[in-house]
Amino acid sequence: MRKLAAGNWKMNGTRAGLAEVQALLAAQPDPACEMLLCPPATLIAAMAALTQGSRLQVGAQDCHARASGAHTGDLSAAMLADAGASHVILGHSERRADHGETDAQVRTKAEAAIATGLVAIVCLGETEAERDAGQTLEVIGAQLDGSVPEDATAANLVIAYEPVWAIGTGRTPTIAQIAEVHGFLRARLTARIGAEAAGVRLLYGGSVKPGNAAEIFAVPDVDGALVGGASLKAADFAPIVAAL
Ligand code: PGA
Repeated sequence: MRKLAAGNWKMNGTRAGLAEVQALLAAQPDPACEMLLCPPATLIAAMAALTQGSRLQVGAQDCHARASGAHTGDLSAAMLADAGASHVILGHSERRADHGETDAQVRTKAEAAIATGLVAIVCLGETEAERDAGQTLEVIGAQLDGSVPEDATAANLVIAYEPVWAIGTGRTPTIAQIAEVHGFLRARLTARIGAEAAGVRLLYGGSVKPGNAAEIFAVPDVDGALVGGASLKAADFAPIVAAL
């Protein structure tokens, strides 16, 4: 399988930030892995125009479950695809926390994204309190069962394991902890979608930096990364892409 280096710009970036995209393309014109940036929705069309014909794909950070209608401020999967997105991040812990998104909502969004032809990047991960209580596998197993559509395939689904306590903190799980979770996710996904699970990319996310990327990417069943802060600058993201 092709590994995936995905960047999540979160609520960062204006058109001035597109200079970083040009720098990234100059630094990584032909990466060994798939390369994706998910900017704020306001930049999708401009980034897609800039990256046309390149190896850099453009994604979104959320979508609505409905195709259209009276949903002020929301964007449908079809709109994102029309703007040039090929992927959409769903169920990021910041959306689960800030907007109360549930597993069931994430699943309906993933179904809508997949039906539209987007690749759904479904995020899950435990809080620090859940890890301390020994509930990590139970929590992420339930999130996976609740968030992943049953008809998902290796072509239209990516899973990102992002421990909430590792996001933006500079802290990461141990290599053994990442290996345990990713092995568990592969098995749980197999129980849910069958043999297709073998080809689904399982990303690790949470404080991935140039300095720790190679070590994390060597872990079995880690098929790429979802990178927040270190995806904003080409000087940080390019070496992460190179490590995959
Ligand atoms: P971080 O964020 O790389 O800044 O820790 C990761 C994420 O939230 O996707």
